[in-house]
Amino acid sequence: MKTLVTGGAGFLGSHLCERLLARGDFVICLDDFSTGVRENIAYLMQETNFELMHHDVVHALDVQVTRIFNLASPASPVQYQLNPVKTVQTNVLGCINLLDLAKRCNARILQASTSEIYGDPEVHPQTESYWGHVNPIGVRSCYDEGKRCAETLFFDYHRQYGVDIRVARIFNTYGPKMLPADGRVISTFICQALSGMDITIHGDGSQTRSFCYVDDLVSGLILMMDYTCEQTGPINLGNPEEFSMLQLADTIIRMTNSTSRIVFRPLPADDPRQRRPDISRAMAALSWKPDVNLETGLANTIRYFRELNNA
Ligand code: NAD
Repeated sequence: MKTLVTGGAGFLGSHLCERLLARGDFVICLDDFSTGVRENIAYLMQETNFELMHHDVVHALDVQVTRIFNLASPASPVQYQLNPVKTVQTNVLGCINLLDLAKRCNARILQASTSEIYGDPEVHPQTESYWGHVNPIGVRSCYDEGKRCAETLFFDYHRQYGVDIRVARIFNTYGPKMLPADGRVISTFICQALSGMDITIHGDGSQTRSFCYVDDLVSGLILMMDYTCEQTGPINLGNPEEFSMLQLADTIIRMTNSTSRIVFRPLPADDPRQRRPDISRAMAALSWKPDVNLETGLANTIRYFRELNNA
């Protein structure tokens, strides 16, 4: 199996490359290193079945592959709002280039879509049949609408050209190799707690999220890609356990024995009030459900950031 992983040097992509290599795939890791880092894949570079391709998906590419996991896109609000036009280009032009590649190679292609498709949802928990509640002109829309257009492209390439597609809607995922300062809530809280700084909660802390540990998510992506029957998705992949931001901050303070205080800041524009995946479809179609509970996943992630601080 010759597998292309775009965004392979990022948080999720590097875990995915590692798992694919371990089961014997030949892996081409493509990345422009805009938010990914070489350290994430440094230990894979000596593997004979691993190839690194420095490339921006906004430009067409030509490689011969049988599988494509498309993860190339900034994922944290801080990163994707730095250059919103580039975020749209990556998600729209990038997808067109990769779908064209899949069409040429007759390769199966999986899109790393997102729960942001649902925006600030009026349906809870979110099922795949829900069309979403997204502000098309807000500061988050470069990502939300970029990803929505990417899904449209995937389904149009499927209907029009018969491209073999998979669309996974990923909910908040966390774990080792997240960047310390990219504004995602778990890495931010852990880094603040470990350094004794104030823990900043946006809003009153009652807004909820669900958090999936990276190992569970990667298993879901691989299962979805390998699934032999016609199952294009979209399929929600995430952990349905729901926590408020206050609960999360308290848990991290307790687990790190931190002296940090919790402080409150204004809520950013269009921040969703609640998020929780309905994973019935993933359970029925893939027999997938997450195994790692929040405290176990947090313990691994805290250990990673402690080691990073001591390095
Ligand atoms: P990440 O920022 O760590 O990884 C994204 C990777 O894509 C980086 O290595 C970056 O350098 C690369 N990239 C960005 N633009 C590129 C371009 N134009 N050309 C080539 N490479 C490019 O983020 P992540 O958390 O690993 O997310 C990976 C994918 O999963 C993204 O598509 C994201 O939208 C999706 N996703 C992630 C989450 C999550 O909670 N982590 C949730 C929903 C969806």
